[in-house]
Amino acid sequence: MGEEERLITTGFREEDSDVESSLRPHVLADYFGQDKLKESLNVYMQAAIARREPLDHILLYGPPGLGKTTLAGIIAAEMGHNIRVTSGPAIERAGDLASILTNLNAGDVLFIDEIHRLSHAVEEVLYPAMEDYALDIMIGKGPSARSIRLDLPKFTLIGATTRAGMLTSPLRDRFGISFRLELYTPEQLAVIVERSAGILKIACDHDGALEIASRSRGTPRIANRLIRRVRDFAEVRGDGRITVELAQAALEMLEIDELGLDRTDRTMLRAMMEKFGGGPVGLDTLAATTGEDAATIEDVYEPYLLQLGFLLRTPRGRICTQAAYDHMGIKMPKPDNGQTKMF
Ligand code: ADP
Repeated sequence: MGEEERLITTGFREEDSDVESSLRPHVLADYFGQDKLKESLNVYMQAAIARREPLDHILLYGPPGLGKTTLAGIIAAEMGHNIRVTSGPAIERAGDLASILTNLNAGDVLFIDEIHRLSHAVEEVLYPAMEDYALDIMIGKGPSARSIRLDLPKFTLIGATTRAGMLTSPLRDRFGISFRLELYTPEQLAVIVERSAGILKIACDHDGALEIASRSRGTPRIANRLIRRVRDFAEVRGDGRITVELAQAALEMLEIDELGLDRTDRTMLRAMMEKFGGGPVGLDTLAATTGEDAATIEDVYEPYLLQLGFLLRTPRGRICTQAAYDHMGIKMPKPDNGQTKMF
């Protein structure tokens, strides 16, 4: 199954666009979970406001759909400034970034999603902009060329990435603050589901919300997507109200199991167990057996399977744990007395 066809993909899908903007929280009070992050962020924001200075540049990293874009919008709003949203691949040339930067107002937030995908030339423009709020421009060509420095408004850059490790170190070093977003617990996601149900005017009881939350891979974007699928089911098969029984029936029909694993997850785990004795299996081999690309496995599947304790990452590859065997109902092979496996 391709990434775009998966219901539980954490990536953005076209159907999400309208609903996502209506469900996106705009104030920190509606942004649930990530408590430690919010606590530190509040201190930094209050300090910046008291000093009448822009907030330091912030790097947000973690799997897709956990609320990086949402948080950037909330930070801008809480600081009382505007946000300009763009992404690494969208800024093709150095000149594109220069024009974005010169159009900012003091205090504005510039949000760059997928910041690890900026080209080298664009990154070079970003360094003095982040460090000195300055833009270096070359004027003329050949021997008479000279560089002049333009002052930029004091802005805050918020960069988001699923791959902190892919950032160049000069770029990473220029962020004063960096936060890792964590997967949400089912209880936290249930609060998000209940809030979304209220906005979408869907009747959903607490246990129904918790059932959807438990099958959403710790990811708000998935929770918000599943609630709409379950609502369709509730309207056709039930009286429109989402209860735990109805949520279970709907999600089973969608082949999403009680832990949120879908067919592709199970195919991957089964292949690891049946073809590779539970591992270690290299990322590329996993990609080949599931037909997904290695980046998707790392960004989408692994974080949740690791959190569940179903996979372990070792230098030699991924290993399935006893918990994964139990969940799949497959008997775990006996340990081989420490001998190295032959793959
Ligand atoms: P990312 O930028 O990390 O891919 P988004 O910020 O686009 O994720 O979040 C996806 C959707 O999930 C948002 O539209 C929002 O409705 C919801 N969401 C994310 N984080 C939270 C949160 N902490 N509380 C409530 N809703 C959230």
